[in-house]
Amino acid sequence: MHIEYPHAVGEILDRLHRAGYEAHIVGGSLRDSMLGRPPHDWDVTTSALPEQTLEVFSSSRTLTTGLKHGTITVLAEENGEPLPVEITTYRIDGEYADARHPTEVTFTRSIADDLARRDFTVCAMAWSPYGPGDGLVDLFCGRDDLDARIIRCVGEPKLRFREDALRILRAYRFAAELSFDIDPATRAAANLCAELLSRISAERICAELSRTVVAPNAVRAMTMMAEDSVLASILPSVTHAEIAALDALPPILSLRLAALLHHESLTQAADALLKLRFSNEVIRRVGAALALRDFPLGEDHALTARRLLREGGLTAAEDVLALRSAFGEPTEGYSSALGQARERGDCTDLAHLALNGQDLAALGIPRGPIIGRLLNHLLDAVIEEPARNDREQLTALVLTWKDAPNI
Ligand code: ATP
Ligand code: MG
Repeated sequence: MHIEYPHAVGEILDRLHRAGYEAHIVGGSLRDSMLGRPPHDWDVTTSALPEQTLEVFSSSRTLTTGLKHGTITVLAEENGEPLPVEITTYRIDGEYADARHPTEVTFTRSIADDLARRDFTVCAMAWSPYGPGDGLVDLFCGRDDLDARIIRCVGEPKLRFREDALRILRAYRFAAELSFDIDPATRAAANLCAELLSRISAERICAELSRTVVAPNAVRAMTMMAEDSVLASILPSVTHAEIAALDALPPILSLRLAALLHHESLTQAADALLKLRFSNEVIRRVGAALALRDFPLGEDHALTARRLLREGGLTAAEDVLALRSAFGEPTEGYSSALGQARERGDCTDLAHLALNGQDLAALGIPRGPIIGRLLNHLLDAVIEEPARNDREQLTALVLTWKDAPNI
């Protein structure tokens, strides 16, 4: 069996092996290597106890933040880039107190115990270059499931989800990222246990959901989440039409969240995202796009593009056109007009107006709110007719307006 892994990981396996311990690449890193995908992180499982691992790597840079769970992180390097490798002692998880955290972990000498505590068969394999056989330890038919592209719990799915409900979201996230199916028994159990998600912290839900939403197979995975009442406990308002729109959008988190919340009011959308602890930046960008969802798209593409830019700025303008296109509105003309307006350098904000507040004061406008109002009127005029953006024409406009009673 051929597994691609960084030289630094091979060296770590080698050092543990030479010190007399078993050591394997395990879990997601093995799963992804077997699929030919670059793993998110590298995990090694070993028979060495944590203090023994520390001894083997006493001359290396290590982190011991995970020591309580038997994890030592070796801060290796690969091609000059930092490569943290997590080395964890074979362990059994104790009782689960709160559907997420084992109250205690017990170290074990048996890799079988370690693999049995892992969530899905495709994440419960280990491989070592030192054998026996081809080096693969696959006690739960993970390789068959990998070939058949199926996410299936190790053991009885209901029990596994009751121990840790976050696994429910991981199942759909893997389905989304790897374009796998979920085994029917695993799905049925997810449906039964979905309400346990209320015990999972918002941050963890947010992390899994964020990865699911931007994954290549997001539509299929989120459709399953909706069918299995899993989405109901996270984003209850989302409809099938909104999920279907994801395919037409680039994998940008805030854009895809805006699609999922497309029928919500601005306040409801912001509340839903706040509750899940999305960042202020994400919430702001979703709001900016949704705020423009009913913005009139007029016949004149260039003029509409400038109005959109003035109203929301470039990102919101691009986002809302992508969104409205994903929901079936023809927006191509506006998108190219947006690009052209940028290329020409059309003025669409106060900063690019040929006159500023100082200039107005110099023309005799009294300092105060009237200056701001006049600048905005000038910007409106320039949006309608970009050629007006020079000092002379704007000065002339100001002089005609300055004594108007409704300015
Ligand atoms: P990714 O790194 O892409 O998020 P992963 O499967 O590697 O996916 P990690 O969180 O890195 O996920 O965990 C590494 C391994 O630890 C998993 O492959 C799995 O074997 C095990 N694991 C992680 N979380 C759980 C869990 N909640 N329950 C049981 N086993 C888990
Ligand atoms: Mg991982």
